[in-house]
Amino acid sequence: MLAKTETATFLDDLFDTGLLIETGVDGLYGRSGLFEAIGDGFQAMVTRYGAADEPEVVRFPPAMSRQVFEKSGYMKSFPQLAGTVHCFCGNPADHVSLLQTIEQGGDWTEGQKASEIVLTPAACYPLYPTAAKRGTLPDEGRLFDLMSYCFRHEPSQDPARQQFFRMREFVRMGTPEQVTEFRASWLERGQALIAELGLPFTVDVANDPFFGRTGKMLAVNQRDQRLKFELLIAIESEEKPTACLSFNYHQDHFGKTFGLTTEGGEVGHTACVGFGHERVILALLKHYGTNVDRWPASLRHSLGL
Ligand code: ATP
Ligand code: ZN
Ligand code: MG
Repeated sequence: MLAKTETATFLDDLFDTGLLIETGVDGLYGRSGLFEAIGDGFQAMVTRYGAADEPEVVRFPPAMSRQVFEKSGYMKSFPQLAGTVHCFCGNPADHVSLLQTIEQGGDWTEGQKASEIVLTPAACYPLYPTAAKRGTLPDEGRLFDLMSYCFRHEPSQDPARQQFFRMREFVRMGTPEQVTEFRASWLERGQALIAELGLPFTVDVANDPFFGRTGKMLAVNQRDQRLKFELLIAIESEEKPTACLSFNYHQDHFGKTFGLTTEGGEVGHTACVGFGHERVILALLKHYGTNVDRWPASLRHSLGL
């Protein structure tokens, strides 16, 4: 038999130290106060790096309108990741049969009905229709600061791939020039921020995990047009580093879908930069160890720890 040190994974280590708390479901974890304190320090840094642009802060709950979700086209591209909220809508007789089904170990969820709510897959999704409702984009465009828990059905024992995780985002809306300039500037700022944390990283062009055969073409197109970049840090594996920040140019996809228009009467373009909250915390814990007292003083200072 192998000794525990030889078999223990990073996830075991996170459970043993109490930084993450098991729930019995892969990718669904509690977080300790220390884990949260590291994350608060990171978020304060993100705020500092973005402060000069004076983004408008908006927060949504981790769910969104099912109607908006349908309109966004998410089910065309990522049906495998989506999570919907279903509820019991029956009468007292239905309730009796529901309880009987549970008692008998049957599938009590069969009678659940889809509600008007789905789980947010990326922090920016609920924003587009609310921004469009405000009317034409002003000359200078708009810039938002978002953060939300997001859901993706991708159960995994890689602690960096969770089902419920937080995503901080800056979202820019405006002309193609405005939004591509925003993305280019965050590509620089994101690297400076991760360098301040002393984490080794690479930046590479990327694609989203589009579903199915047409999805393969969408992925190739996304790469060819360099619409997505990722900042990658080794967490679970050295060979396959993890995307911790992503820089996305949506062109006019959301503008067309939700009716965003510029002062000049063009369809508004959008771009977003996403920070994987848990992934950056995990990258720090992996790189510097789970004993935070031993982290370099300068790093603790940057994080306000
Ligand atoms: P991956 O390539 O690893 O599947 P992604 O490209 O799908 O990630 P995005 O859709 O760009 O990720 O999401 C924005 C950010 O949210 C990512 O850069 C990452 O840091 C974080 N993120 C995405 N999926 C997860 C997850 N399952 N668990 C934790 N963080 C995640
Ligand atoms: Zn986004
Ligand atoms: Mg990716």
